[in-house]
Amino acid sequence: MDSRLNHSTKVIRGAGVSDGVAVAKVLVLERERIVIRHRIIPREKVPEEVARFREAHQRAARSLTEIKEAMIGASSREPAFIIDAHLMMLEDDLLIEGVIELIESEMINAEWAIRKKVTELMAVFSRLSDEYLRERGKDVEQVAERVVRELVGKTEDNVNLGDGPVIVVARELTPAETAHMALENVVGFATEIGSPTSHAAIVAKSLRIPAVVGLKNLTREAGQGDVAVIDGHSGLIILNPSPETIDEYESRRKWLSELRLVLKRYKDLPAETEDGRRIKLAANLEILEELAFLPDSGAEGVGLYRTEFIYLDHKGLPSEEEQIENYERLIKAVHPHGATIRTLDIGGDKFKSDLTVTNEQNPAMGLRSIRLCLNRPSLFKTQLRAILRASASGKTRVMFPMISGHEEFLQARELLAESMDELDKEGRAFDRDLEVGLMIEVPSAAIIAPQLAKVADFFSIGTNDLIQYTLAIDRMNEHVTYLYEPLHPAVLRIIKSVVDAGHEAGIPVTMCGAMAADSASLPVLVGLGLDELSMPMGSMLMLKKILRGINGREARTLVEELFQYNLAREIRNRVKREIRTRWAEAYALELEAFEIETAAG
Ligand code: PEP
Ligand code: MG
Repeated sequence: MDSRLNHSTKVIRGAGVSDGVAVAKVLVLERERIVIRHRIIPREKVPEEVARFREAHQRAARSLTEIKEAMIGASSREPAFIIDAHLMMLEDDLLIEGVIELIESEMINAEWAIRKKVTELMAVFSRLSDEYLRERGKDVEQVAERVVRELVGKTEDNVNLGDGPVIVVARELTPAETAHMALENVVGFATEIGSPTSHAAIVAKSLRIPAVVGLKNLTREAGQGDVAVIDGHSGLIILNPSPETIDEYESRRKWLSELRLVLKRYKDLPAETEDGRRIKLAANLEILEELAFLPDSGAEGVGLYRTEFIYLDHKGLPSEEEQIENYERLIKAVHPHGATIRTLDIGGDKFKSDLTVTNEQNPAMGLRSIRLCLNRPSLFKTQLRAILRASASGKTRVMFPMISGHEEFLQARELLAESMDELDKEGRAFDRDLEVGLMIEVPSAAIIAPQLAKVADFFSIGTNDLIQYTLAIDRMNEHVTYLYEPLHPAVLRIIKSVVDAGHEAGIPVTMCGAMAADSASLPVLVGLGLDELSMPMGSMLMLKKILRGINGREARTLVEELFQYNLAREIRNRVKREIRTRWAEAYALELEAFEIETAAG
C-alpha cells in the first residue's frame, strides 16, 4: 500500500476514456429513480391519459431541442448530434405508439406504460451480444425517463454545481447531461457504467474533459463534497487523497497546461526531422465536432476520417445527400489541406443492427468492412457517390479499409468507376482525379504490396488491425494485450516491406493506426521511411516537437541495426537507449510528463 494514502483514501480503477487530470470536489449525482404507481384508468379517461402522455412527450422533446440549441449557441464544438440521436429515439414510433397502445389496451397510467414498454425494449437490447448496441439500449431508457420526469413534474437538467470546479460522479451520465454540464464548471467525469464507445465518453473526449468509466461502487464510496483526483490517462479516481498526492496531481495538472502552451509554439512549424526530412502529420477524426480543435492541432489535413460513426449515429442509413453535407463540411474545414475519407469500416468491434451480421463467432474475421460493402453494392455506392460529389468542394482522397487481395481492391475501384459514370450522365460535378488508396491491415495485402502498389495511388498502414492479424492478438481482448507489440520484429519487417513496395512504385505510404502516435516508435517510423503519420489531434504537437529533434539519417542507421534483433524486448531497449542518449533533448518534455505520472500513480 502506498504510504502516501491516508486511511480514508480510496483508489478506484476503471477505464480512462478521456485524457487529462483534475483535482476538485466531488459532486455525486444521485439521479434517484422516480417511484411511480400503477394506476388503472377508467375507460372514458383513456383518451385524456393518451393526451397527457403526448403533451409530456412534446415537453421532453422541446427541452432536448433547447439543450441542443444552447450547446450550439454557447460553442460550436459540442457534439449536438448526440442530442439529435436522442431526439430521434424520442420520436421513434416504436416507443410512442408502443406506449399509447399499452395505455389503451391495458388502461394503465402513462408513467407505468412507459416503464413497461422500456422494459420490453431493454430486454431486446440486452440480448444483443455487442457492447455498442447494448449502450444504445440505455439511451432508450434515458430518453423515456425524460418523459416520465415530465409527467411527474421532476425535470432536472440543470444540476446545481455550486461555485467551484467539480468532478461529477454518477452511476451513469446521459449525453445530454454530459454536454450540458460541460458548459459549467465541471473538470472531470467519473461513472460506474459506460465504455469507451458510450456516447457520454465520446462527448467528454471531444470536449477534452478527463473522464473515467467503469468505476465499481463509485457512487457508494464517494461522499458529496469529498476531494478527489481524476486521472483520465491512467483510468483512476482517488477519493480523499493525501495532501502529498493532491500536490503531485496539482503540479501535474499545472504542468500539463503549461505544456500545452509550450507545445502550441510548434503548431505552425514544419513537421520535419532535424536534418530536414518532411513527414506530413495529419489528423484522425471520428466526428465532425472534433474539427473545432483542428486549427490549433498542427495537423496538415485529415489522414483518416472514420465514416462509420455517421452510420452508427444514424437511425436507419444515412442518405447520399446527408453524407455529402457531412463530407463537404470536413473538406471545406481542412482546406487547403486534403481529407482522406475512409469508406465504411463497420463490423469487428463496431456494430449496427441493420447492417452487420450479429451472430458471428469471430467478428474480427467476419463479414466486416470492405467485405460487407462489396456484399451490399447499393449501400456502398451511396457512400461512393457522396464522397465523389463532395470531392467537388476540395481536395479529397478515398481509401478502402481491410483489403486482403487484389480482387477486393479492383472490385471497389470498379464500383467507384461506375459511380463516376453515373454522375457524369447526371451532369454532376466531382474530382475526376481524386486519389484512391487502400489500407494495409491484413498480412496478405502486405505480402502482395508490390502488386497492389501498381494499382493504388497510396497506401495507409492500419497498425491496429495489421498487428492484430499478424500477431494473432484480438485487439479487444484484455487477456492478450501484453502481447500487442508494435516493435515486434515481424511487425517491423512487414511495415518495411510495405513502405519499400510503395516507394518502389512511387506512391506515398502513410500510417494511421495507434503506432503512428507512439512516441517511442517514432524514430523507427522515421527510419523506415513513412511519408505521413495520421493520429489523434491531442498527440500531434508533442510528436511534432520530438520529430524535429530526431536526425533522419541516424534513425535510418538505427533501423538497420534493429533488424539484427530477434526479441521485441531487445528492439524496444535499443530504441529507448538511443532516445535517452542521442535524442534526450527532443524527448525531454515527454520524459518529464512520464516521470510526473509515475511519481503520482
Ligand atoms: C487500424 O486498424 O489501424 C485503423 C486505423 O483502423 P481502425 O482502428 O478504425 O480499425
Ligand atoms: Mg482497422
